[in-house]
Amino acid sequence: MAKPADYNEIKARVTWLGAAAGLDLQSFPVPEIGLELLRVRIPSAGAASRRLFLAAGVHGDEPAAVTAVLQFLEERRREQYPGIDFTIYPCVNPDGFDAGTRENAAGDDINRSFHGEGTPESRALRRSLEGNRFDYWIDAHEDYAEDGYYMFAPTDSEWAADVVAAVGKVGPVTAKPEIDEMKIVAGIVDHEKDVPDMMEERQDWPLAFYMIKNFSKRGFTPETPGLLDLDLRVRMQLAAYDAALSMLSQEAAGVATPSGSAAD
Ligand SMILES: [Zn+2]
Repeated sequence: MAKPADYNEIKARVTWLGAAAGLDLQSFPVPEIGLELLRVRIPSAGAASRRLFLAAGVHGDEPAAVTAVLQFLEERRREQYPGIDFTIYPCVNPDGFDAGTRENAAGDDINRSFHGEGTPESRALRRSLEGNRFDYWIDAHEDYAEDGYYMFAPTDSEWAADVVAAVGKVGPVTAKPEIDEMKIVAGIVDHEKDVPDMMEERQDWPLAFYMIKNFSKRGFTPETPGLLDLDLRVRMQLAAYDAALSMLSQEAAGVATPSGSAAD
């Protein structure tokens, strides 16, 4: 399935999906930019459930994440995970997506605006999350300058290695020891400081910090390699989601995931 041409197409495709049973399409006004933030809610089909937050397109120039989230919905992949309650934001930065820019139309990086006053988009997202609860989050990104996958798992997610292994079966994982002055170990960013220290020191919070503070320490930020073909990057994104969702599903079903299962 193709990369959406613009935010209107994202809206049209999500609206079409919203007509399907079991799927609740919601929209939240972003009055400052005259657009709506789209959200798809899919209540779990099973008794036991884990609540998942999945967002894409916080940066407008990272199309594989947005395309993969749409494809996830359109291929009804949710049906593989009846124990999961999904809350999905297909595109958090509508103007940036249309312009193909990392920032929003005002030139602000939304992913540095989840503390304090914020940007119109981060405010709308935060408002929409009031009263919600999540067990796990995925904030889907790409890195335009890279030729191998890596990811942030800022609280040392025990599942991160399994996600990297699953993505590595589809496309290349970076072998670099350092990206953007961050140490990388086996495709995972190895933060010099603990997350609480980083959150204390920084005011320019990414969405991940907001999720950690308000919802769950468990989650990750996949970064697919923007130098590779879009189709491959989309498949790598989907592999990352599927790996985490499989583990979350097992957890929801009360089946313990053996530690070190990445070594099989
Ligand atoms: Zn990004």
